[in-house]
Amino acid sequence: MITDQQEQQWIEQLIASDKATSTKLDKQTKEALIYISSHLLPFYTHYATDEGISVSQVMQKVSKWDIQQWQAAIDELKEDGWLPEEDARVTAMGKLAGVSVGMMMSAIASLAVLKMTRENLKVAQARINSDRDAEFDRMNALFDKKITRDELPPAINLMNDVWLTGDRTIMTISGELVKRLSGFNSTEEFQDFLSSQTSSGSSRKKSMSDLLLSQTATIAMIVRTQSAKMKFEINMLAYRKNDVEMVDLHTEPGVCARCAALSAQGPFMIDAAPNIPEDTHRNCRCSIVPHFE
Ligand SMILES: [Zn+2]
Repeated sequence: MITDQQEQQWIEQLIASDKATSTKLDKQTKEALIYISSHLLPFYTHYATDEGISVSQVMQKVSKWDIQQWQAAIDELKEDGWLPEEDARVTAMGKLAGVSVGMMMSAIASLAVLKMTRENLKVAQARINSDRDAEFDRMNALFDKKITRDELPPAINLMNDVWLTGDRTIMTISGELVKRLSGFNSTEEFQDFLSSQTSSGSSRKKSMSDLLLSQTATIAMIVRTQSAKMKFEINMLAYRKNDVEMVDLHTEPGVCARCAALSAQGPFMIDAAPNIPEDTHRNCRCSIVPHFE
């Protein structure tokens, strides 16, 4: 059986893992920014005059020099070969890159997002897989009647969710670059657009760094929510197998008003227990535990 203290410690451990996942994902945005800066700054300085880059330069047809830059950007990434889900995207980016200088610069930034998304997916998927194993082991260590691997809910594949987030980022940053490229007055201003971080609530336009961090925040939220859903399903499986009839909603540290109110309605018959996250919210780390008198 599970004591309140055991559950509390487990929740705290999961929250610590959530933070570690976020840190790993955010680090990948830094790598993407380094790639973007190293490939786009030469472009900028190549074309910029004292007034920055003009609209007609942004719209200009690509030159032989531009194509060499694109090739160098591609070569840096393709060492490991493209995954099937990357192949079509790289082809599409290559076509866009041939349209104009502005589109080529956008396509190079998009390549960085492609690589970042690939790395994000590795981190997210490894985390969700290990959470599933850990919860399975924990339930079987705590309860007499063991659940089997065959009974587990299907493993979660985050590929589609993560790539959807990546595709949205690619659309956003491409649009922002083409729109804003002719508006910078110096290389420093362009560099600032790439790497500065805008504090939340600031009215400043979002930087490239902000847009990349918004992708990793979304992926961290998906991981946390899917991990909580998986935990809930494995818990309920173990409780039912061990004839638990009544359950409580054990709230996470710093619980929100919604979950606090829901928890106060307990204990619940197991079949009427709140469903996490459907009855709570995304990012919820509250959990269902067996009820004791
Ligand atoms: Zn909650």
